[in-house]
Amino acid sequence: MSSRKFKTEVADLLHLIIHSLYSNKEIFLRELISNASDAIDKLRYLSLTDEKLKGYSFEPRIDISFTEEGGRTLTIKDNGIGMNEADLNDNLGTIASSGTRKFLASLTEDQKKDSNLIGQFGVGFYSAFMVAKKITVISRKAGEDGAWKWESDGESSYSIEPAERSEQGSTIILTLNEEGEEYANRWSLENLIKKYSDNIAYPIYLEYDQVHYDNDKKDEKGEPLKTKEHKVEQINSASALWKRPKSSLKDEDYKEFYKNSFYDSDDPLFYIHTQAEGATEYTTLFYIPAKAPFDMYYADYRPGVKLYVKRVYITDDEKDLLPTYLRFVRGVIDSEDLPLNVSREILQENRVMASIRSASVKKLLGEFKKISENNPELYAKFIAEYNRPLKEGLYSDYSNRDTLLDLVRYKSSTEDGYVSLKEYKSRMKDGQKAIYYISGGKEDVLRTSPLVAAYREKGYEVLIMCDDIDDIVVSTIGEYDKTPLRAINKAGALDDLKSDEDKAKEEEKKPVAEKIKKALGDKVKDVVISSRLTDSPAAVILGDDDPSVQMQRLMKQMGGEIPEVKPLLEINPDSAVIARIENSDDEEFVKALSTVVLDQALLQEGVMPSDIKAFTENLTKLLS
Ligand code: ADP
Repeated sequence: MSSRKFKTEVADLLHLIIHSLYSNKEIFLRELISNASDAIDKLRYLSLTDEKLKGYSFEPRIDISFTEEGGRTLTIKDNGIGMNEADLNDNLGTIASSGTRKFLASLTEDQKKDSNLIGQFGVGFYSAFMVAKKITVISRKAGEDGAWKWESDGESSYSIEPAERSEQGSTIILTLNEEGEEYANRWSLENLIKKYSDNIAYPIYLEYDQVHYDNDKKDEKGEPLKTKEHKVEQINSASALWKRPKSSLKDEDYKEFYKNSFYDSDDPLFYIHTQAEGATEYTTLFYIPAKAPFDMYYADYRPGVKLYVKRVYITDDEKDLLPTYLRFVRGVIDSEDLPLNVSREILQENRVMASIRSASVKKLLGEFKKISENNPELYAKFIAEYNRPLKEGLYSDYSNRDTLLDLVRYKSSTEDGYVSLKEYKSRMKDGQKAIYYISGGKEDVLRTSPLVAAYREKGYEVLIMCDDIDDIVVSTIGEYDKTPLRAINKAGALDDLKSDEDKAKEEEKKPVAEKIKKALGDKVKDVVISSRLTDSPAAVILGDDDPSVQMQRLMKQMGGEIPEVKPLLEINPDSAVIARIENSDDEEFVKALSTVVLDQALLQEGVMPSDIKAFTENLTKLLS
């Protein structure tokens, strides 16, 4: 017998599970049954596709039994793929998924107490240590001869040694601890199986002894005679829920299925069930989780949609079933037309798959749109979680751009909460030529921009695009419903609010712009007279093709070389500060004041003056 140490992350996970999931310890059974079902899925699939295992015949089943007397035990047995020595070592001695590891590392103390969060990534096998002081696994891999026994007390090590098992599959024997004793009885097991595992596709049998009392016969103590009958009863309904007729399914059925299959203790926000017949025949059942999956922004996120072919499970690890931006969607795609031995390569080029995928996207987006129109309250919840991925779609899914433009939401200078482009358009003033927005910074910085104030003063609404990807995305949009989108902090918007009177004034004030430009030298691209600013002396704007401050920061983070971007300084000729410059002959004073005006305008955009010392010296000079 060889004893081996758990990898450290397993030890951490064990600790975490035992201390955080305690209030919810019954989920261990769901986890073990789901592993058993996965193992049967794998064997079924290989028996249809794998050279070595083709034609392997077996009756899939899961058996659960327990001993009530003596040391109480609970046993979960499956006839799935099984594990050999190396599998036992790899699967039960380490945590394979790097996402899980990263997730664990990123949890704060508070989050560690949130069992729902932890449940989301499927704590799996180890959760059984909440109820067991010892776990024994006896397993035999399909197509191999020997069997193996894995055993551990969940402390720090486990052992593996040869064993006996007549058939392929795994038997998990839990020696229950005090916390687990309550599960060694028929009623609680039956309840738990119904509650969590009713939709498992394979029959789950419970073995128990039914006790009969015979009043007509007495035992030696004069009590009614007690006889035991050994029973094996199927507990779950074992049918693929998504294949049942919609009319036979209740809201509760859908929700239960979601919670059991996708590790979420919250109800989904909503779900969409489609049974398509015709050229391609398929069923999809999609769910939108109430909270965005924890790994939504990890590069190695786990895809949420499982692929079945004619009810045979194929994979839950295929990211291309839906486009990346819909990675928060959970659910099932079941096709009648794909071949069972569909490989990843085939999947990616398959015409049937492509048509299911594009129909699914249309269906999902269409449903989002319906909800946005008919159920604003629900849509607000949806947007709070998924606005950002939809914006990614705007960037990446050209074919659905029009729908996506109606789905995304932005903050606004005049309204609370989020607004749609459609709402913005309905509020546009007579003669207003463009949808105005400002982007490229944090919300509070953008909101307090003097440019936004200028537009507000003139009665125009400005969209505050403060999401980190807005900048990149919005530059690709161009227009919404034939109305152009225009950034008010870029040069192209300078003429927006200009009247003939303003143009005359511009001519008249040209000399002061020249004067400031000379004083600032190569710090600015140009100095222009504003017809928009009201209270502030100046604002900085960017050339139409220049990256914003935020975008520059992003490019720097990604290690890219960025050419120096010089701002345009827009000055307010009516401001007293600018008048002081206009009326001064003192070259040094003009230079100091011009520099402070520029630095102040940059500060307002969230940019620190590059030379703090010079900035404060200038300020002091001016103040004295
Ligand atoms: P997960 O199921 O999320 O991968 P688990 O900790 O539950 O994580 O299980 C780890 C791995 O152990 C599984 O991925 C699987 O390969 C293997 N495994 C667990 N239970 C069984 C079983 N009953 N039959 C075959 N393999 C199993």
